[in-house]
Amino acid sequence: QGEVKLTAEVKEDLLAQLQHQARESAIDFEIARVDKVTRQGKTLQVGFAGGRKPVSARRVLICIGRSGDHYKLNVPGEALDKVHNRLFDPADYAGKKVLVVGGGDSALEAAVSLHQARAEVSLSYRGQSFHRPKPENIAKAEALLDDRIWYATQVDRIEPDKVWLKHGNGEPTELANDAVFVMIGREAPVDFFVRTGINLRGHWSPGKIAGFVLTLLAVLLVYRWKTENSEIADWFLEHGWFPNNIDSTVWPDRLPFIRVLQRVAQSPGFYYECLYTLVIILFGWRRMRRTPTPYVRWQTVSLIGFQTVPLFMLPYFLLPLLGELGWFDSGAGAWLADQLFPDDGGGAREYWRSVGFILAWPLFIANVFTQQPNVAWLIIAMLQTFVLIPWLVWRYGKGAYCGWICSCGALAETLGDAHRGKMPHGPGWNRLNLAGQVILAFVFMLLVLRVLSWMLDGEPVGVGLAAVFTGLAFDYQALGVPLNYATVVDYFLSGMLAMGLYFHFSGRTWCRFFCPLAALMNIYARFSQFRIFASKEKCISCNVCTSLCHQGIDIMTFASQGKAMEDPQCVRCSACVAGCPTGALSFGRLAANGEAKLDRLPASLLHAGQG
Ligand code: SF4
Ligand code: SF4
Ligand code: SF4
Repeated sequence: QGEVKLTAEVKEDLLAQLQHQARESAIDFEIARVDKVTRQGKTLQVGFAGGRKPVSARRVLICIGRSGDHYKLNVPGEALDKVHNRLFDPADYAGKKVLVVGGGDSALEAAVSLHQARAEVSLSYRGQSFHRPKPENIAKAEALLDDRIWYATQVDRIEPDKVWLKHGNGEPTELANDAVFVMIGREAPVDFFVRTGINLRGHWSPGKIAGFVLTLLAVLLVYRWKTENSEIADWFLEHGWFPNNIDSTVWPDRLPFIRVLQRVAQSPGFYYECLYTLVIILFGWRRMRRTPTPYVRWQTVSLIGFQTVPLFMLPYFLLPLLGELGWFDSGAGAWLADQLFPDDGGGAREYWRSVGFILAWPLFIANVFTQQPNVAWLIIAMLQTFVLIPWLVWRYGKGAYCGWICSCGALAETLGDAHRGKMPHGPGWNRLNLAGQVILAFVFMLLVLRVLSWMLDGEPVGVGLAAVFTGLAFDYQALGVPLNYATVVDYFLSGMLAMGLYFHFSGRTWCRFFCPLAALMNIYARFSQFRIFASKEKCISCNVCTSLCHQGIDIMTFASQGKAMEDPQCVRCSACVAGCPTGALSFGRLAANGEAKLDRLPASLLHAGQG
């Protein structure tokens, strides 16, 4: 019937525009309750409740979000005719005694409009104070209703002419009453989606559970395959399976590049890194097509660039090639290589240490937790962790590293792009954010042990501390189960578990909950200038931003109140900014003089071209 044109910036005007365009296009609305949608050959059948004739359609748009039936109080008397979930015309209640139940914007707005229509309104809310509604709704409700707001109460029972509230201490309060409005939200229409065959986020069907278990098993298999001397790696070796069946000795080894390849040809870890890089490139390209904002384009190019050149080509090809060409055999080249890539004891240089140019301690511990102090790497690591990264976080937020540089972030923003909405939200999960702080404290304790053991080297105390350090960091086992930092944190949490949870809990579980570098940056971020600024007038409280955040941040609460978002968990992925249908969000920083400065690189298509 025509294109939808939305130019208004506030929700009232947007609604008026939509209604006008619907009238202009002669779109008729019919109100009916849909029971399920099923496929019949090439068409879809929309079945209705109450025996109404089904309707056929080629496409069906289900635009109800996750909202279904209204939540119930489950108290006696809730079925009385005077109990409602929606307010249509406040004037109908002029002069009547009305109780509104709830603590969100809808409840407060209903209470205020009923009061303005001269109803005698009381408001019952189970919390001690309001947090989620817009500040102006709170201010209006508190000013108009005053002592008729019953905090920390719950409805106990409803009678034809009264309502009983119960206080936290069990005390009852009786209110004379003509009507009750229960506005405590809606539950997800799980049954409708299941009947319709739509996979609902957060709902675990048997097929989904089986898929999750299979993913975990597949990740376990791949991880053990790429781990030298593991049972799976040995099994592959015994049977001569990939990559042990590659006979690189027959390759012409006159060329230095071929000799470099020969060294890694039978290493599963090399193929794992190839795949990791390839996935980032392919899914990065897909991400740029899915979200064609200038911000996503440059961010993805940066992530692909860091992963491809310094994290993959440098240790596997470029440095070994320079070694083959004799750059590290004598003079300054040899001196530098001796500092950074010492001999592994078998005649080969440890070029893998070069990932430490990008991955900072304590995310990457191998260059700091060495047997003897490696001064070059210690200086580089300390400069990264305590100078460069704090500056980056202060100026641009944690996302400057997590969203633009780090290899884990690269995978999360590319392969994980389609899964970001699977990150669980809520206060319970937010408590788990502290796990990273515990890991950070532990790794700092390891650092202290390591440094002390170096300082007291040769003395009995130093030997003892070195043994404790090595046990806790790399060796300790209980009943044959490795319980040391390298295995539990580096191998299990950051590798196997994080990958296993990717397609069911988003790609940022490690980053949000466990990464010790993130935990350190969360401390730095308390002093950051970075903000996501929100325009309250544009926010229509649709929750898209919050549902897209794979760091579990409730951005809508900030946006609907017009507050700047400064949660240190933010990794600057831009999903909320790009996904906001009204362009209410913008990246920026709060300058020292308190002025909000918006970023010049547009992260939303609604901002692109605005200069
Ligand atoms: S949270 Fe840690 S692993 Fe994740 S992107 Fe940031 S530094 Fe990398
Ligand atoms: S996406 Fe977030 S900021 Fe944008 S309108 Fe919806 S709730 Fe408001
Ligand atoms: S707040 Fe926005 S930019 Fe930050 S991590 Fe969440 S979705 Fe990404």
